[in-house]
Amino acid sequence: MRTRVLVTATVALATLVAGAPPAQAKRTEPPKQPVAVGYGGAVSTVDPTATAVGLDVLRRGGNAVDAAVAAAATLGVTEPFSAGIGGGGFLVYYEARTGRVHTIDGREAAPASMTATSFVDPATGQPYRFDEARISGLSVGVPGTLLTWRDALARWGTRPLAQMLRPAARVAEEGFTVDETFASQIAANQAAFAQFSSTSALYLPGGRPPAVGSTFRNPDLADTYRLIARRGTDVFYRGEVGRDLAATVTRPPLAARPTESWPYPIRPATMTTADLARYRTRFPAPTRSDYRGYEVYGMSTPSSGGVAVSEALNILERFDLRSMTPAQAMHHYLEASALSFADRNRYVGDDTSQRILRELVTDAYAGERACHIDPSAALPKPVAPGVPDGSYGGCPAATAADTRDDRMSTTNLTVADRWGNVVEYTLTIEATGGNGMVVPGRGFLLNNELTDFNFAPTQGSAPDPNLPAPGKRPRSSMSPTIVLADGRPFLAVGTPGGATIITTVLQMLVNRIDRGMTLPEALAAPRASQRNGASTQAEPAFVSAYGEGLPPGHVFAPTAEIGAATGIEFLPDGRVLAAAEPVRRGGGAAAVVGRWARP
Ligand code: GLU
Repeated sequence: MRTRVLVTATVALATLVAGAPPAQAKRTEPPKQPVAVGYGGAVSTVDPTATAVGLDVLRRGGNAVDAAVAAAATLGVTEPFSAGIGGGGFLVYYEARTGRVHTIDGREAAPASMTATSFVDPATGQPYRFDEARISGLSVGVPGTLLTWRDALARWGTRPLAQMLRPAARVAEEGFTVDETFASQIAANQAAFAQFSSTSALYLPGGRPPAVGSTFRNPDLADTYRLIARRGTDVFYRGEVGRDLAATVTRPPLAARPTESWPYPIRPATMTTADLARYRTRFPAPTRSDYRGYEVYGMSTPSSGGVAVSEALNILERFDLRSMTPAQAMHHYLEASALSFADRNRYVGDDTSQRILRELVTDAYAGERACHIDPSAALPKPVAPGVPDGSYGGCPAATAADTRDDRMSTTNLTVADRWGNVVEYTLTIEATGGNGMVVPGRGFLLNNELTDFNFAPTQGSAPDPNLPAPGKRPRSSMSPTIVLADGRPFLAVGTPGGATIITTVLQMLVNRIDRGMTLPEALAAPRASQRNGASTQAEPAFVSAYGEGLPPGHVFAPTAEIGAATGIEFLPDGRVLAAAEPVRRGGGAAAVVGRWARP
């Protein structure tokens, strides 16, 4: 993209990055709009403050990586139940200078003390229930988010981490207005949060969630960000913040007299400072699938997102979705999702061999998988995984499926800059509210990412690729995706939503590429998620829109909403189109640097 003179609107949050506003001033909340079109770069996140911070970095000459880190750090303040330095994530980056796509795996890692049976109750021999495991020290993985930010900036950024943390620290200190989403996420976690002195002091003032419309401040988090800004990430991975984190896992900060009861014992676990010091980000090659002339890049293991989306696209490419009715196209989308999930569940985990990962995304393998799809009826679920052994022919029979992981947290952001660099970044602390423990004095919640491991074998007599082990990273579904056309960015999308992430990204790509929707339409369209389970999770609007036209055999389980996506499209006329959710999770915030350009 060529550099243009920009006519920019007033910068809503300029003071966050530049001079300090008067201490007592209540910040004006920036505007929130789901679609923006213009020039010079764009930001889309679920939160208007984070979007404004990212946009301001772009306007001051920072690049997409700088802006993504500043926006993500802000989400750690305003979306603390979904993401933050207590968690992990995956970042996909298109580098305009080289035309290459890079990734960072900042997934949480199991401590050295973890074993394959860590989630089995020794008293009963049964796996723990999800919430029993979640609200405990056992679920906490060594966080990767802060090193993701550091390494992204070191490799591709133009600004120091200290500077990119500053706006977020200021939001944490000055506060932001509590909205319905923030208050309801606390309310949904009230019993868990009440168990911990640190969490209830921060998020349950007076024993209740803060009122909608009130100003929420997190001075401990502001101090933590500033400490990291001064002393670097070692203060977290080799210093006092890490010591406090490990102590929280090992000796959870239980409230003396919780205001609510909790049905399970709160188990400690062992995380050591050595576990933290050992943590490294990884830089795996992206997954790639060529789909109808586009190159679709995604995240490789330990996320299953890139492989699963690629396999499903390869299956769908066998069919002419454009000539189908919308309902038929959706039938094929649901069936391709089920087939791809059967393989993901059977084969994909942190230590899956490159050979299998490669086979799963070949066109020849997709041909074998596609032969299962019957245009006139839904396949009985679960469908069997295939055999990605390099020799393809028939259609094998059914086996057991794993459809457990459909919870809903996490956050996603998309950033593009004036030079054409693009960041698609999904970050999380797993469940909404993570493991419920705020690290005392540090202001951030810990993740429960290790509950993404399978608690017990799921694959019958076949090996399970996602059992816990020391240092292993749990399988993710996060699917930050960048699509190129002729080597240039065309589209970037991502979403939260547990295992529904894979199907939502896939559905948005099908909606945009095959069904002729605009990006905002593709995001807003009603969603359904078939993950090789007996029923398909579906928003009610999906069933009203397509239910009548679908062939027999589909069983829907209604769910209020699936995902909270963001995306950016690069329009042929040189403009960028940023899109966020119009409604889901309270609606997101898309913005562009300049609405008009002069040559
Ligand atoms: N922990 C999930 C994963 O990595 C994401 C959780 C969510 O999006 O709700 O796949």
